Amino acid sequence: NLSGNAYCRQHEITVTGGEVPPPFSSFESTSFPSEILREVHNAGFSAPTPIQAQSWPIALQGRDIVAIAKTGSGKTLGYLLPGFMHLKRCRNDPQMGPTMLVLSPTRELATQIQEEANKFGKSSRISCTCLYGGAPKGPQLREIERGVDIVVATPGRLNDILEMRRISLHQVSYLVLDEADRMLDMGFEPQIRKIVKEVPTRRQTLMYTATWPKEVRKIAADLLVNPVQVNIGNID
Ligand code: ADP
Ligand code: MG
Repeated sequence: NLSGNAYCRQHEITVTGGEVPPPFSSFESTSFPSEILREVHNAGFSAPTPIQAQSWPIALQGRDIVAIAKTGSGKTLGYLLPGFMHLKRCRNDPQMGPTMLVLSPTRELATQIQEEANKFGKSSRISCTCLYGGAPKGPQLREIERGVDIVVATPGRLNDILEMRRISLHQVSYLVLDEADRMLDMGFEPQIRKIVKEVPTRRQTLMYTATWPKEVRKIAADLLVNPVQVNIGNID
């Protein structure tokens, strides 16, 4: 449906999809509540990064997004803040399983995402836990049992815990694949596909990648529904 396509260029930014909303020009023009804006100001941020400005209004509409952007462009808050808004609207009983799931390639990145989620979600009383390999499962299983809104996980460890039937993903309605290209390079595709099979198809899915090779395009086509594509920088 080309006629419904918006196509906008602004500094090396390309957005493709039907009826794309205009970017936010400032934090104040977002619809984020004051407790979140306060955290953003406390962090010393003066304006949204290009990926945040472009993708927040799209994500807040509940639409799927595939974003192609380099490291350091502010992708984490790009998906976390709309995720917090999603949680405000449709948070499930955390004891039944997380509402938001973020898949990340490594323990280090997963931990950074959790730190960002705790920092910016603290005032909204959002709970987040991290599941990764190379550490005992016991404490991670206890965190799940206690109940959390957000799980940030590496695909290997989450898949292990799923096979043990110690977590349910049936309440997940906001799914993020962060650094998708790197997860595929690390051979996580089978685990990712098994995990996503456990997540209801009625969900919002956001995928972030630094590169856009055939394998990433394929998994995006399989897991996302009619996504808006946001390119930041020169990607062909
Ligand atoms: P990416 O995931 O794209 O590599 P991150 O989300 O890790 O990037 O963000 C990189 C750094 O920029 C982090 O330290 C983060 O806190 C900071 N940051 C995020 N958003 C903003 C902003 N709007 N203004 C200034 N710094 C920001
Ligand atoms: Mg990142």
